[in-house]
Amino acid sequence: GDLAPDEASLLARRRRALGVLAPVFYEHPVHIVRGRGAHLFSADGADYLDCYNNVAVVGHANPHVREAVADQLTRQDTHTRYLQDEVVDYAERLLDTFPEPLDHVAFTNSGSESNDLALRMARTFTGHRGVVVTGNAYHGITALVSSVSPSFGTGLPLAPFLVSVPVDDVLKHPDGTFDDPDVAACARAELVARFEAAFTRLHDAGYGVSAVLLDQIFSSDGVLPGAAGWVGDVADAVHRAGGLLIADEVQSGFARTGERFWGFLRHQADADIVTMGKPMGNGIPTGAVVYKHGIGDTFAECTRYFNTFGGNPVSMRAAGAVLDEIDRLGLQRHARDLGDRIAASMNDLLADTPRFGGIRHSGLFLGVDVLADDGSGRPDPAAAARIIAALRERRVLISGSAADGSSLKLRPPLVFSGSDADRLLSALADVKPLFG
Ligand code: PMP
Repeated sequence: GDLAPDEASLLARRRRALGVLAPVFYEHPVHIVRGRGAHLFSADGADYLDCYNNVAVVGHANPHVREAVADQLTRQDTHTRYLQDEVVDYAERLLDTFPEPLDHVAFTNSGSESNDLALRMARTFTGHRGVVVTGNAYHGITALVSSVSPSFGTGLPLAPFLVSVPVDDVLKHPDGTFDDPDVAACARAELVARFEAAFTRLHDAGYGVSAVLLDQIFSSDGVLPGAAGWVGDVADAVHRAGGLLIADEVQSGFARTGERFWGFLRHQADADIVTMGKPMGNGIPTGAVVYKHGIGDTFAECTRYFNTFGGNPVSMRAAGAVLDEIDRLGLQRHARDLGDRIAASMNDLLADTPRFGGIRHSGLFLGVDVLADDGSGRPDPAAAARIIAALRERRVLISGSAADGSSLKLRPPLVFSGSDADRLLSALADVKPLFG
């Protein structure tokens, strides 16, 4: 499709002012002026189905969040070195969602900042530098965090103290599940062995092991929920090696994966530090680092840490309203039930197509592999890109995952309704020939 003249001019102005650091999705960009629930609207009223937004979890322009923020703006909005109710009220509510050893929280403004702080805490607590992540992990943009994010590609130097461990070959199980206990046990053993080999390399190189940092849904490795439990095995292994487990819940947290409120709890992993961001404030920037208190005590002895905007009352009120809405609307259970339904329907719809390589999901986080049509089983990123573009032309917004972009990635706002799901499935039925 062609852009309207005013949209073409906005795109040109954007490129002049924001340059190449602000890429825009789609060759045929989407111009959004407002949103509601899981829908985004353009100026001419066209209704786009948002299947990709894990920030606006409780819905675009959620009225409860808006009222909480507006109310707080009429009161005060300053940093947290004065005594304030908002940050304490929210901290207590957040900590109530964690098992007991994770008993303290520090507030930040983004997922990147949270991971940066978590890595620094792990380094001071363990006295080691070595970090282990998955093969195509993304954890954020600070100097430290980008140096442990292999998904930035080959352009940026990764940290010398980083070892990345591929997990996608094991976890891209053909039927998307590890229901067979023997298959699951075998996968878990193989993965732990790989992490243990990484720890040995870091010890041999003199770095020791500070942390394993894992995105709890492996959103840039292709969306890899199974085999539930393997992250718990890795937690035990990293503890034996003298390091910590940092659970990055930026993508998987706040009920998205359905079964549990946090992804690491699906794996019954003994996480030492948990980081979060994106959905926490439904779009009002806020992030957090939840940790076992001893880890923070050691950090505070070595460093002065103060975060001007972290825990500010406006963000805390937004975050509190998000928890209210997840609870009031039963979104965790909804994510589980609707995610299961969508995955089963997509499987039925696409199972007989040669390019369909399987679907994996946990709650409302879904990944679909797109293969070459020659029966070779090779991933086909170009075909995935064509499907993403064709859905966009039907006003259904999704995106891609995996190092080569060959998996489709769907993670809609958690308020995605049954009729939203029907619309997604009918658009997929329209583009089914592209799987042929
Ligand atoms: N961790 C993961 C797993 C992420 O997906 C992202 C963002 N895509 C980040 C961290 C960084 O979060 P932010 O963009 O809020 O800094």
